[in-house]
Amino acid sequence: MTRFALSRRSRLRSVLAAATAVLLPLLGAGLAFPGGAAASVPNASEPAYYDVTSPSTTATGLAADLTQRGYDVLEGRLTHGVPILATAAEAQRLRHRGLTVRYAGPLYQPVSASVRAAAGTYYGGYHTAAGHEAHNQQVASAHPDLVVLRSIGQSWLKTQGRGGHDIQALCLTKIKPGDCATSTSGAKPKFTLMAQMHARELATGELAYMWIDYLVGNYGTNADVTRLMDTTELWVIPIANPDGVDIVSSNSTRPVSQRKNAHDNGCSGTGRGVDLNRNSSYHWDVNQGTKCSETYPGASAASEPETQGIQNLLAGIYRDTKPSADFSPATTDTTGTFVTLHSYAELNIYPYGWTNTLAPNNDDLRTIATAMSRSNHYDVVHGDGGLNYFAPGATDDWIYGTLGVPGYTIEVGPNSSSCSGFFPRYSCVPGFWNLNVGAFMALANAAAHPYPTGH
Ligand SMILES: [Zn+2]
Repeated sequence: MTRFALSRRSRLRSVLAAATAVLLPLLGAGLAFPGGAAASVPNASEPAYYDVTSPSTTATGLAADLTQRGYDVLEGRLTHGVPILATAAEAQRLRHRGLTVRYAGPLYQPVSASVRAAAGTYYGGYHTAAGHEAHNQQVASAHPDLVVLRSIGQSWLKTQGRGGHDIQALCLTKIKPGDCATSTSGAKPKFTLMAQMHARELATGELAYMWIDYLVGNYGTNADVTRLMDTTELWVIPIANPDGVDIVSSNSTRPVSQRKNAHDNGCSGTGRGVDLNRNSSYHWDVNQGTKCSETYPGASAASEPETQGIQNLLAGIYRDTKPSADFSPATTDTTGTFVTLHSYAELNIYPYGWTNTLAPNNDDLRTIATAMSRSNHYDVVHGDGGLNYFAPGATDDWIYGTLGVPGYTIEVGPNSSSCSGFFPRYSCVPGFWNLNVGAFMALANAAAHPYPTGH
């Protein structure tokens, strides 16, 4: 979750409720999110979701206070109070301070014993970083006419000689000479989809995995996919934070809620690391969080090797069409689009995220987000969404503010129902895919000419 949430659309809620009604009996009784109803904490030793309210402070003020005190504030659902992820002991400490703390649901969904995790998977089917890498290699080997697999940099652990990973990117297109090069002058416009920069946002990596399979699997049979692959370079960074994903997947039934990378900064547990979605070199803000907080932006702008690898790739393939001044527009001959997948809150977020002042290409940026919404029915927002939260140093702002390329965030997954949270059961993923594949296609199709009006 990057920022904030607004009220959900009842239409989607009913779709997911119907899906839940079908799935729950199949998978064994599970704890659905009670949505504020009285409920007992199922396992006091595990973190869970809580909503916190104060008799004397606004939700926004309370959120800032809890963040300052080091709580894992989830930046969403302020309608029911401030959502946090906390242990039962932490919740009790807050109650002793006079706050109302309401249990809102478990962090973990039960993983049915009948679901045998295949190699390279965990938590009922989610792919490990190694599982993604095997998939990337397999797809590239099977489709040399359609796929180029690249290493674009290294994870923090790898730079330290302590294991770790290369950051992998795939370029998918019907390959012609000159395609998929590190060049800003290639013949085809580019769309890049990036996932799991926040490691604990499990569903996002799966959508990247499915997007890759969708493109190569439908080339030559589905007319829309075939035309897209013939005309556009479709770049995918399935796992932007592989060290973080290794931490998450180290427990296959109780994933670790690691958001940041694995940069060893002396903090214990999930306090370790840098928030890669606050580490970009555009509007990097030292005040986003202290070392052990979930939004620690790093020691300096683009301090992390993951950030450097991603920025270097994107700056290497997209033409820079925007003057550096924040409110100078990108030119109408800009090509390309970009999306980074996060979870959860059902939002299509467009630039800027560091200020409420409209971006100079606002009308065209919003038009594309609205096209995405026709598929996923998520709310279209920018800035702080009226909640006083900003996300300076995020990737979507960086690519727009620096290069002029329309950059979006999709917050995948609902605020309530058993498909909510960071760790929805794996059977929720197909529903997320069905909603979002049309949004990905809308973004990809906009890459040729994203700013038709220039406003
Ligand atoms: Zn996120």
